Amino acid sequence: MTEQITMAPCPFCEGPPCVIAKDYMTGKEVEFDRPLDEYSEENYSAYVWCHECGAQGPVIDSCTLGIFEGLHDLTVMAVARIAVERWNERGSKARACYDGGAKDGLNLFPRSEA
Ligand SMILES: [Zn+2]
Repeated sequence: MTEQITMAPCPFCEGPPCVIAKDYMTGKEVEFDRPLDEYSEENYSAYVWCHECGAQGPVIDSCTLGIFEGLHDLTVMAVARIAVERWNERGSKARACYDGGAKDGLNLFPRSEA
């Protein structure tokens, strides 16, 4: 059995999170316990979303994980687990990018005419 992990509450409303996994090509929902077929070319995507306000965490997919992170032959459960880990991450690693755009008005909506 996969080790359980506590999902953090929604960062916007602190509502309860839900996890969904889909076939990467068809977009159809798949079960977490779907067995990995070694001859299959199936890829999966997964994300966490807030049941109350609909906010969504990063969409994780096994195709991208294979290409950019060297993670191959991931089960649906493994992809969903990574989606939960990304949902739980509350960092500020991109804050410098936000702050850098502030002086150019990039954080305003609508943006000023150039
Ligand atoms: Zn929410």
